[in-house]
Amino acid sequence: MSTDVNPFESLQQQIDTAAAYLDVGDDVIERLKQPERILELTLSIERDDGEIETFRAFRSQFNGDRGPYKGGIRYHPGVNRDEVKALSGWMVYKCAVVDIPYGGAKGGISLNPADYSEAELERLTRSFTEEIRPIIGEDRDIPAPDVNTGQREMNWVKDTYETLENTTEPGVVTGKAIDSGGSEGRVEATGRSTMLTAREAFDYLDLDTEGATVAVQGYGNAGSIAARLVESELDMTVVAVSDSSGAVYNPEGIDATAVKRHKNETGSVTGFEGAEAVSSDELLTLDVDLLIPAALENAIDERLARDLSADVISEAANGPLTPAADEVLADRDVLVVPDILANAGGVTVSYFEWVQNRQRFYWSEERVNEELETLVVDAFDELIDAYERHELPNLRTAAYVVAIRRVADAYEEGGTWP
Ligand code: GLU
Repeated sequence: MSTDVNPFESLQQQIDTAAAYLDVGDDVIERLKQPERILELTLSIERDDGEIETFRAFRSQFNGDRGPYKGGIRYHPGVNRDEVKALSGWMVYKCAVVDIPYGGAKGGISLNPADYSEAELERLTRSFTEEIRPIIGEDRDIPAPDVNTGQREMNWVKDTYETLENTTEPGVVTGKAIDSGGSEGRVEATGRSTMLTAREAFDYLDLDTEGATVAVQGYGNAGSIAARLVESELDMTVVAVSDSSGAVYNPEGIDATAVKRHKNETGSVTGFEGAEAVSSDELLTLDVDLLIPAALENAIDERLARDLSADVISEAANGPLTPAADEVLADRDVLVVPDILANAGGVTVSYFEWVQNRQRFYWSEERVNEELETLVVDAFDELIDAYERHELPNLRTAAYVVAIRRVADAYEEGGTWP
């Protein structure tokens, strides 16, 4: 893991790499490398013991040329201005890769939610929503879950917004619980696109998915569901999983659902019966066929990239490889399905949720999954096409080539004002 790589600089480097293959002016590229606006906040809430505590919080609206700003809200001690800027930019290009009509945004609050009670988290979420209320809305900017946030927080966002606006507007936020206007299939969607893109990548390389071995780094919503789906849909064998407390390995296989249950009961995947403890770095370099990084940015640096032995990497996390790691893996012919496609299932089903909210007409889980599969597989094919046709270094560059083209077209067609 590398802590000295700035994710915002990584994003800008990824854009520059792709721009070299595109006929888009430097002036437009420059515009597509910077957020349009960032709201930086100091939130104060009363702790349960009556003390006042203040928190740093952000919402970055990176680009709105293709539609409302869209992206999650993260609760993590590592949240800072540059991280939120990078994450909001990745959302722009993610939405463009799967061709859904959104721009990109991201928000975050710097805290470790495990240190706070549910009532404190509710006060904080409502306070954040009150502050961002003027800049969000179903046609303006639509928050969603991200690291350490989920249905509970999204329900609070919706309730706060609707109460203050004296309206019903469920499409102001996605990732809600079903009874609050959420969509079937949304919880699973990120892991599902990671599974689908791994399947397509194996197919592209003529590799068998059945019996293929998998290591999963990070066992939150994205990682645990991707692990379960590669087992159940692709007959792969998950042999190692990790979370922030450590990693466990069993060459005979680890039951993805049982280890999730163990984590829910004990707080961590460590100590899972029948598996040996390994370090998080060891997990990344195990002799497996598929590696799913599903934790945070910069998990795999240049050194780990040289040591890892997977044939395919499907990025469930945002920004898990440093740009230097990307180069090493391209040289080593490891097929990396980039985050902006491999985890795009989350925002894609958020889009379906928003469409359903606006129509007040709800789809079956089957329909959601089918429409998701169509969008993800079509996008994968488009990336492969761009990759082969322009002889691009890797699928990430292909993804940015496709995505930047779409955003630049929308910008140029709209023209500049004033
Ligand atoms: N936080 C997720 C992501 O990084 C989902 C965003 C959304 O649904 O808007 O893609």
